[in-house]
Amino acid sequence: MKLQTEQGTSDSVMAVRERLTQKTGPRAWLIVVAAVALAAYIAGLLFVWAKVQGFIPDEIPLKAFHHTITLHHIRQKISDTGLLLVLMIPLILAIELMATGWDKSSLRRLVFARTPTIKMDMAYVLAGQVQLTSLIGKVLTFGISVGFGTWIHDRLGALIHVDIGLGALPYALQVFGYFWVYTFFDYWTHRLDHSKAFWPLHRFHHSSTDFCVITSLRAHPADFTALFLINLPMAVLGAPVEVMISVNLIVTTIGLLIHSCIDSNWGWFGRWVIQSPNHHRLHHILDYRKNGVGHYAMAPIWDHLFGTWKGEADQSLAIGVDEPYRFGYWFMHDLVRDYVDFWKALGGVIMRTVKRPAA
Ligand SMILES: [Zn+2]
Ligand SMILES: [Zn+2]
Repeated sequence: MKLQTEQGTSDSVMAVRERLTQKTGPRAWLIVVAAVALAAYIAGLLFVWAKVQGFIPDEIPLKAFHHTITLHHIRQKISDTGLLLVLMIPLILAIELMATGWDKSSLRRLVFARTPTIKMDMAYVLAGQVQLTSLIGKVLTFGISVGFGTWIHDRLGALIHVDIGLGALPYALQVFGYFWVYTFFDYWTHRLDHSKAFWPLHRFHHSSTDFCVITSLRAHPADFTALFLINLPMAVLGAPVEVMISVNLIVTTIGLLIHSCIDSNWGWFGRWVIQSPNHHRLHHILDYRKNGVGHYAMAPIWDHLFGTWKGEADQSLAIGVDEPYRFGYWFMHDLVRDYVDFWKALGGVIMRTVKRPAA
């Protein structure tokens, strides 16, 4: 596995630019074939799930150290985790294929034209799905924020005699309401990710030199604090677990969509409601230190409110980071290097704060 050379990087940036500036749109027959294949696939999935779920228990009691911990909602957790891999990823790949045509699609590049950065995305997503530690880590992080948040919510309710939350609203409106809570805290944790200390961990996500739908899932495993910090306020504000799972699923699906190669800024919708693929591409701009980054929020309203809205972009914009990455299927070197850099950067920030003379 060779380290990406400067020449190699500029070659791949040029190849990406060339592909993105080709003016071949999707063919009508391709849209019809993709839509029919997608419908057949979803029908098959629903059929299989209906047959299988009867065999899966919904609660599993676990005994450890004379205590019993019961895992609840097993079926929903399995279906939501599985949904991402077997439904949401194919769905967004199909939407992108219908919008961009075959040549620019992530599907073509995943199957027939894997660049080093796309190989890394692929390996990372597959490793995450089979890697039990990552799954346990995510469930535990989510579980701790739900448990801790619900505890604060109940104490707060007892103190002020008001049950904070949207519990009185129908399910869909609760999901809608808590979506904005999620995106608000996601905005601030994402801004923190771009600070000096946390950047080495978040850099792993930004290292991609070519958008592919699954680039969205390339996040350093040590960056779990964001998952905790974003879900905690939802629990404090009384969101039930099912609503939190739905919100997480929606934002993950939007994440896949905004890392696609669909060349669109979605007009006013992309400017105010949900971030478009082009705006997210601007967030990933190469050499962001010179260009300024912005566009931290999945819901752009927060960027407008907090002054980090930077304007429009298109898919020909070069993306990536200055640091060299090896890419390819073996990503451990990059992961470990970024983790060490994170502790060095955090140590540096702490030392500078401690040494700063009192005013
Ligand atoms: Zn970022
Ligand atoms: Zn991104």
